[in-house]
Amino acid sequence: MSKKSATAEGHLAAGQGLMEKMVSLCKRRGFIFQSSEIYGGINSIYDYGPLGVELKNNVKKAWWQAMVQLKDNIIGLDSGILMHPKIWEASGHLAGFTDPLVDCKQCKKRFRADHLLKAKGLKPDFRPQDFKQHGLKCLECGGELTDVRDFNLMFKTFMGAVEDRASEIYLRPETAQGIYVNFNNVMTASRQRIPFGIAQIGKAFRNEITPGNFTFRMREFEQMEMQFFIEPEAEKQWFEFWQQERYGWYLNLGVNKNKLKFREHDKKELAHYCRAAVDIEYDFPFADRELEGVHNRGDFDLSRHQEYSGHDLQVAAESGQKFLPHVIETSGGVDRATLMFLLDAYTEVETRSGDEESKHETEVILKLDKRLAPIKVAVLPLSKKLDKEAREVFDLVRQSHMSQYDVAGAIGRRYRRQDEIGTPYCVTYDFDSVEDGKVTVRDRDSMKQDRVAIAELKDYLREKCNV
Ligand code: ATP
Repeated sequence: MSKKSATAEGHLAAGQGLMEKMVSLCKRRGFIFQSSEIYGGINSIYDYGPLGVELKNNVKKAWWQAMVQLKDNIIGLDSGILMHPKIWEASGHLAGFTDPLVDCKQCKKRFRADHLLKAKGLKPDFRPQDFKQHGLKCLECGGELTDVRDFNLMFKTFMGAVEDRASEIYLRPETAQGIYVNFNNVMTASRQRIPFGIAQIGKAFRNEITPGNFTFRMREFEQMEMQFFIEPEAEKQWFEFWQQERYGWYLNLGVNKNKLKFREHDKKELAHYCRAAVDIEYDFPFADRELEGVHNRGDFDLSRHQEYSGHDLQVAAESGQKFLPHVIETSGGVDRATLMFLLDAYTEVETRSGDEESKHETEVILKLDKRLAPIKVAVLPLSKKLDKEAREVFDLVRQSHMSQYDVAGAIGRRYRRQDEIGTPYCVTYDFDSVEDGKVTVRDRDSMKQDRVAIAELKDYLREKCNV
């Protein structure tokens, strides 16, 4: 084994260890559960527990703030998951939203043909008829593979009482189309002029052939997408702008810069609607993988909807001439980002508190950005005897911050429970507090302790938490 591959394997093994630890932490502490677990689970669907829903909401809040609240020319939308079926004809999804699928004739395992090629170090831009020439076999059992066939990723269902062809309808595989079909409505209602953007967060559904890696690839997931409508000449400038802007968003939320990178798609890799695409990738424990895509979609979508709906979707330029706006899209996954924030924040340290019972233990700290942390403040009475007074402090801080109250167990253990879920501030109410009206506030990262007057606690925390 070469030195290089030994190192790569070591990295992978360490990475897989991290994924296992993360899956276990997520279940144990109530971030993420396997869906339908008591019925044996359902593949590639996950439920967010009490802490997970807070974290995911905070991720969405941070995106909405950066993309809508703080931008002059971006407004929001929340469109339906079910839409007119013709939309998917116009968008090209009915014909083109497919993955190349092969089955193993022996063990029946199913693969994405492009993934098999990638695993062999071959470019995924093959022609199906070339596939056999590469002599590829099943990765599991070495068995012979079937021919490649296209598999449409859209989930189909029926609308209304009759289950016939005419009532077929699809669960949206992306949120973007809801934006395009509302383009005129939004522009008119909010008196926008080009350039402007429409942002949306919502569920999307894809019948992925090979889901996996926990919440990285699911069949039901959430997207946060923004379509930015521009003049065709401004394409290059805005494409570059949105790459930097979106990369900066992750950095601003504390993601390790060394783990983030751009990857440009080569022409053969581009989706059917795309003129150019750049992925923002993160060094996940299993591999460098896409977090978000920035796409130059040209006028593909609006021109198709104009054609299929018969509605004029052009806008007037300053010269009075009409044109179809071009689109730069930023398309990220809420679940993928949430998983990435968790992995990036995961830190192990030797026990820090120094109390007897925790000797030689490894402590986990989730160093989540304070804006993302599910619980901002924990109020911990030093003794059960202080329960009544400490609860009053809890009632005070919970008005402005998502807070927890914990009275059970040794104080060191209670601190560790909060570190493990990323709580940035622990407020301890002790016997002196009764006399001096002050509490001790401990910072998760610096371990610094401040003595703060209860009367000033809300302002102190507001300033510290930046929320
Ligand atoms: P991939 O190559 O990983 O399948 P994609 O190129 O199909 O992704 P897009 O269609 O560009 O992805 O979707 C935009 C974003 O939506 C992705 O960057 C990802 O964050 C998220 N996303 C897409 N598919 C899934 C999925 N099955 N599960 C979770 N998130 C997803």
